[in-house]
Amino acid sequence: AEEFGIKQALKDLGLSDINNGTSTGEDWFGDGDIIESYSPVDGALIGKVKATTKEDYEKVITTAEKGFKEWRTWPAPQRGEVVRQFNDELRRLKKPLGKLVSYEMGKSYQEGLGEVQEMIDICDFAVGLSRQLHGLTMHSERPGHRMYEQYHPLGVVGIISAFNFPVAVWSWNTALAWVCGDACIWKGSEKTPLTSVACQNIAARVFAENNVPAGISSLITGDYRVGEMMTTDDRVPLISATGSIRMGKIVAQAVAARLGKSLLELGGNNAIIVTPDANIKNTVIGAVFGAVGTCGQRCTSTRRLIVHEDIYDKVKDAIVNAYKQIRIGNPLDENNHVGPLIDKDAVKNYQAALDKVVEEGGKILVEGGVLEGEGYESGCYVKPAIAEAENHFEIVQHETFAPVLYIMKYSGDVSNALKLQNGVKQGLSSAIMTNNLREAERFLSAEGSDCGIANVNIGTSGAEIGGAFGGEKETGGGRESGSDAWKIYMRRQTNTINYTTELPLAQGIKFDL
Ligand code: NAD
Repeated sequence: AEEFGIKQALKDLGLSDINNGTSTGEDWFGDGDIIESYSPVDGALIGKVKATTKEDYEKVITTAEKGFKEWRTWPAPQRGEVVRQFNDELRRLKKPLGKLVSYEMGKSYQEGLGEVQEMIDICDFAVGLSRQLHGLTMHSERPGHRMYEQYHPLGVVGIISAFNFPVAVWSWNTALAWVCGDACIWKGSEKTPLTSVACQNIAARVFAENNVPAGISSLITGDYRVGEMMTTDDRVPLISATGSIRMGKIVAQAVAARLGKSLLELGGNNAIIVTPDANIKNTVIGAVFGAVGTCGQRCTSTRRLIVHEDIYDKVKDAIVNAYKQIRIGNPLDENNHVGPLIDKDAVKNYQAALDKVVEEGGKILVEGGVLEGEGYESGCYVKPAIAEAENHFEIVQHETFAPVLYIMKYSGDVSNALKLQNGVKQGLSSAIMTNNLREAERFLSAEGSDCGIANVNIGTSGAEIGGAFGGEKETGGGRESGSDAWKIYMRRQTNTINYTTELPLAQGIKFDL
């Protein structure tokens, strides 16, 4: 860690003394059990924080509710100005924050920087958005009446995020929610608590400088029990939860039981269809980055490759060959492509998936395995693997959050590939590699991909912030980030104004007294 400047990064982020277990900062309360954060990179203890207790949570929610009452009255462009300044700090701290993301989560330093860049991009978007929170005007059916709609701040937004994008997912939500006039309470992943603290510290500093009311950005720490404090709390009108389908089903029910709103961003089972008209070189780059990037721990990671039989052997050989070039090791060393999995439980799940695919009749094309020896002491480094498999295998139907790629054949028309692609319960990201217009348009049509994201001639992973991000079916249906995803963070109101001396009723109903 030393060689890669982790100590300095922690210092730059104001986390030098994070090892002493004290964990109260600006708008951040914790007095519960100690959570230790170990790096999957080298197994070292990076720091400790305390979990949020029920009493701490009460303080957080009451502060957030109070802060919201004031914040909602700030003009949206002024809220945008605070987000602009927050973004300046992100730009200044991009390197140390990217480094901490890489060291605590295990993704490559380049991907860590990319994650902070996503935060910067969404903040830019939010600043512009702060002057564009538009509603429509409609023509009233009644004479002398005007009708329009407007969007008001919603309240306290609860954000629950996963370990694999420990900082970007928070910003996708907060940057929009803040300009929309909401207060945000964030429960980051218990596997990456320090990146959460680093982000909260940045927000707290900028907010204090701008006299933003207390509680507009709050952090709570801990596992699902701390998450449940928000999901069951009717003072939190919106829960935005990112994580596994298992978690999403529990959270959705808890929020629905109190008729709250939820925005769910859950697991994917993403496929690339490779047709006879595909550019093979680009297919290989897209598929390999999609399958092994972030060590297969992106919600948009490529899990399945559906290849036409005419080019199957060619594509298979090219991908198997490309896997030989992959360098696995310390993700802070920019010579490596693939870092570790998040922890040893993830390693166990990876091994179980490889056993299961063989048990179900699959054939291993690129052998997996856990790496040992110098540089691999944390026990979390694994070899990306490829298996030939069939879509209906139980293991293929589930998301294994690890670098395991399943490759399968289709014959005939692209509709046969689409049947396979859509033949899973998840619906996040999808892609087709083809230079054939008919195939591409078919893939994008109403009878094409059933996913929230459908790409042509790029892979499944690496979305831009300008589009709405999310997926269908068991992926949960939520949309975050660009386009009009901001609307969920606001409450919508339709207004009809009568400027006559009469009172005509809608639908021409007569009612005279
Ligand atoms: P996870 O479901 O184990 O945990 C996610 C978060 O939910 C954590 O903060 C956790 O503490 C919290 N949580 C778990 N149970 C809860 C409950 N009952 N009530 C309240 N909170 C609860 O997921 P993970 O292992 O951290 O992340 C990996 C998963 O996240 C994968 O399935 C991946 O596809 C998914 N993911 C999806 C997206 C997306 O945008 N669709 C993005 C990133 C990750």
